Amino acid sequence: MSKINQENRGCVPSAPNYAGGAPKDLYEVGEIPPLGHTPERMYAWLIRRGRHGDPETAMQIEVVDTPKIGPDDVLVMIMAAGINYNGIWAALGTPVSPFDIHGASHHIAGSDGAGIVWAVGDRVKRWKVGDEVVLQSHQDDGDDPECNGGDPMLSASQRAWGYETPDGCFAQFARVQSRQLLPRPTHLTWVESACYILTLVTAYRMLFGHPPHVVRPGQNVLVWGAAGGLGSMAIQLVTLAGANAIGVVSDESRRDHVVSLGAKGVINRKEFDCWGRLPDVDDGAAYGAYMKRVRRFGRAIWEITGKGNDVDIVFEHPGEVTFPVSCFVARRGGMVVFCAGSSGYNLTMDARFIWTRQKRIQGSHYASLYQICAANRLVTERRIDPCLSEVFTWNEIPRAHKKMWRNQHQPGNMAALVQATVAQSTSQF
Ligand code: NDP
Repeated sequence: MSKINQENRGCVPSAPNYAGGAPKDLYEVGEIPPLGHTPERMYAWLIRRGRHGDPETAMQIEVVDTPKIGPDDVLVMIMAAGINYNGIWAALGTPVSPFDIHGASHHIAGSDGAGIVWAVGDRVKRWKVGDEVVLQSHQDDGDDPECNGGDPMLSASQRAWGYETPDGCFAQFARVQSRQLLPRPTHLTWVESACYILTLVTAYRMLFGHPPHVVRPGQNVLVWGAAGGLGSMAIQLVTLAGANAIGVVSDESRRDHVVSLGAKGVINRKEFDCWGRLPDVDDGAAYGAYMKRVRRFGRAIWEITGKGNDVDIVFEHPGEVTFPVSCFVARRGGMVVFCAGSSGYNLTMDARFIWTRQKRIQGSHYASLYQICAANRLVTERRIDPCLSEVFTWNEIPRAHKKMWRNQHQPGNMAALVQATVAQSTSQF
């Protein structure tokens, strides 16, 4: 039954190292129960409605009941969990408090993870106890037209596990829908496996999921936050498609990382001052001065793409501070695709440039299972590097979120150990 590593390479103890004695109700974090034995209770990082705010105070360790699974669900023992913005938003309670969505008494964040299948519901056929998996965070009810032949991301039942559901993976065990499981790329460590799905698949849909604006060889794509989680994935995907990625960073120390992923050029946004909401277009002087500053940024792009070559696609997520510029620098007929507004949601643009130059403004959110599988295959085939930057311990999970919130993290994606205790080990057979 089990595909669990029996050689103990540091992640899963071999059989004699399973917790001995009679099965227990509660195991310490990092202590592995006998395979398939589900303890009644587990440790988890909890957010409660009364303490939204800074992740370091909003998230606290508590002991809770281990989730019960339904017929289509799977219980996964979490070996490692990815750190991403969903945990920050859940801690802060913005843009919406998770409690206003799911109504549960507590919230366990964590929308990216890797682990071992621990129990399966009666109707689950594709997975068995012991399988090693990575978890993707799209859930839906599966019974509406969009889920059956349409785009599940357009389904009214679509929800983000670990943000819009209360049972994410900053816990020893997590309940997921069976469709959330993907085979774990076995060349990766547990932490590498846990860190990349959310950013990779979101970038994949943004770049390939909105035809006819899909990245094609030779095109130019401007990628904001190129050293961040999304950006690191986007630069690689653009490069893989044979197009030119132009990355934006805020610090020279991030340049080498972006170039190493294949970017044709890198721009340091700190050298420009055209950020923020669009000025009032009726204020000629202010608007004229602003446009001069924007054109200077546009010329920096041309230094990489060649004079007159505007970018075909702008990969947007900072939002309020960059959005008007994104809308200017996209080429005629090009697309600004965005999946977030990290700096604010009041997006402004000069509408004249959008209609006369027939640009497309496209919202994008996570990815369909089809896109998720396609993206994960690129990791399995070693075409995409998960770009694991920093590894945190279980106890450091809130601090990791704080670091990300403050934009003080290293380039790439971050992860934390949960039941795995050694960062560098894989658990191949
Ligand atoms: P990261 O923090 O890893 O990267 C974001 C990058 O944005 C930073 O590296 C930073 O790079 C850049 N940045 C920060 N502030 C600004 C600014 N004022 N102007 C321009 N760039 C800025 O985060 P992620 O890439 O993981 O996520 C980014 C956003 O995307 C978050 O809001 C997240 O919630 C959202 N998201 C949405 C998804 C969806 O499905 N809708 C899925 C995944 C993420 P630098 O300072 O070097 O420029």
